[in-house]
Amino acid sequence: MDTYAPSDVEFVAGRGATLWDAQGRAYLDAIAGVGVSLLGHAHPALVAAIADQAGRLLHVSNLCHSPWAQQLAERLTALSGLRRAFFCNSGAEANEAALKLARLHAQRRGVAQPLVLVMDGGFHGRTLATLSASASPAVRAGFGPHVEGFLRLPFGDLAAVAAAQAAHGDRIVALLVEPVQGEGGVHLAPPGYLRGLRTLCSQHGWLLMLDEVQTGLGRTGRWFAGQHEDVQPDVMTLAKGLAGGVPIGACLADGAAAELFTPGSHGSTFGGNPLACRAACTVLDVMAREDLVARAAQRGQALLAGLQAALAGDPRVRAVRGLGLMIGIELDRPARELALRALQRHRLLINVTHGTVIRLLPPLVLTVAEAQAIVSAVVDLVKGMDAG
Ligand code: PMP
Repeated sequence: MDTYAPSDVEFVAGRGATLWDAQGRAYLDAIAGVGVSLLGHAHPALVAAIADQAGRLLHVSNLCHSPWAQQLAERLTALSGLRRAFFCNSGAEANEAALKLARLHAQRRGVAQPLVLVMDGGFHGRTLATLSASASPAVRAGFGPHVEGFLRLPFGDLAAVAAAQAAHGDRIVALLVEPVQGEGGVHLAPPGYLRGLRTLCSQHGWLLMLDEVQTGLGRTGRWFAGQHEDVQPDVMTLAKGLAGGVPIGACLADGAAAELFTPGSHGSTFGGNPLACRAACTVLDVMAREDLVARAAQRGQALLAGLQAALAGDPRVRAVRGLGLMIGIELDRPARELALRALQRHRLLINVTHGTVIRLLPPLVLTVAEAQAIVSAVVDLVKGMDAG
């Protein structure tokens, strides 16, 4: 297990945005298992639903009809406006499904050597196809030969997409993009970008595939981040917080893309299992009941404004940016050690991504007091760095 980052702290329990270690010390969780625990830890409704379902039926072959998978599909298609849902077990797997749809789409169009457009700074997972679609050398290195058929463009640049169309238009079949890049350093698309991509994809018959694994389900203050620009993709992937920590992934599709998988053409043993699907239905219930999407928008705005005000003019800070409760503080230097320092000195869980960016993805149930505590701890951490 030492491919995961080491830490001495052993967490044994959680509630809301609080975690406790084995010695009973409390920590503030500003990363939510990297964007997973939308409802906070141990939400009573989710705990009860999981316990109840475990006592009834954990798993049954997805060759059989599952009422929970059916219900989840209905709810996700209603929320997203997309017509079909395929369930799997992770974000990478959801993106694998999307990429397989792109290949089938190519076949339908008679494109022999299809290209999927992907972005600099993009991250889509660590399976072979998804790491090949991802940009980071740290993710790709050592795993060649990579899966072919990707063309990488600068993120946020519509002219680059138009140029790719001019050069390779006959081969391009799809475009895979995160509405806000997460692992790449919390980069927001410039205004109009997603809408521009939608227009180009529609014009050329490419599938617009939004990777909403990190941004989806309220994280950015809307149910899905594409909605900030009223953009409806052809394919959308979800995972992370969907079942509140029970592994699940979903690939939603609309239009012609919704017809590409046929019975038997794709699948996974655990995909759509009753436990994960019921947990996900419960997450959606609680999010609606507690109005967590609106809360993410409000709390996120206040947290961002608080951080921007407190860090304004600090020479170590290059940018403080975010959307909803997805926030990045970009520093002028490598910041990896800050995550451990935050844990040890402030009992705060943060994450550092792309080397220099402090990333905050707290549970959507974050309170005002917790948001303020995050601001003061992050400011202390940054000010505690040598100003040189
Ligand atoms: N896509 C995005 C945008 C992600 O942020 C992640 C995980 N950080 C993934 C895909 C991969 O998800 P998983 O780790 O569940 O495979």
